[in-house]
Amino acid sequence: MEKKKGAVFLDRDGTIIEEVNYLRDPAEIRLLPGAAEALRIIQEYYPLVIITNQAGVARGYFDEQRLRQIHRHLELLLAEEGIRLAGIYYCPHHPEVGRFPYRQDCQCRKPKPGMLQAAARDLALDLAKSYTIGDKLSDIGAGKNAGTKTVLVRTGYGKEQEEQIASSQFSPDYIADNLLTAAGWIMMPGH
Ligand SMILES: [Zn+2]
Repeated sequence: MEKKKGAVFLDRDGTIIEEVNYLRDPAEIRLLPGAAEALRIIQEYYPLVIITNQAGVARGYFDEQRLRQIHRHLELLLAEEGIRLAGIYYCPHHPEVGRFPYRQDCQCRKPKPGMLQAAARDLALDLAKSYTIGDKLSDIGAGKNAGTKTVLVRTGYGKEQEEQIASSQFSPDYIADNLLTAAGWIMMPGH
């Protein structure tokens, strides 16, 4: 039987690209410094899967068609850097805002693990051999709840979130200044 492999799950905003409040225009996408290099390193060993909460859909700021345009553009920018994603999973829901079907207490909104579990089914991944990287404790929660190791990056909201670790139920396995440092930690043997 073929052994399942791990993946690296990545938050989008504040982790791979600059944090923009409810990004709704593909032209607003900016890769963070070092992000492309980090992804090129990681993809040599692990499939790359983006997992992103996009409650802007539930809030009516943009629709799913626009979100898919944004993701096509992101994939294009990454392809120009020699990077290929294994998947992009997004949660368009919010538990209290918007209308059905977007207003719902879904299983995919981080820190719930639904997006990672869906990717694991679709791509035959072993979550116990996987890593989750993000700038929010909700990313760390989703990664933990799915059974992956987790890295908080200090880009995006990461520095503010780091100060809240002590009062949070979610604590990352490692804290990195940015995606490139996170990639270096993941590549180190022994965890
Ligand atoms: Zn959802």
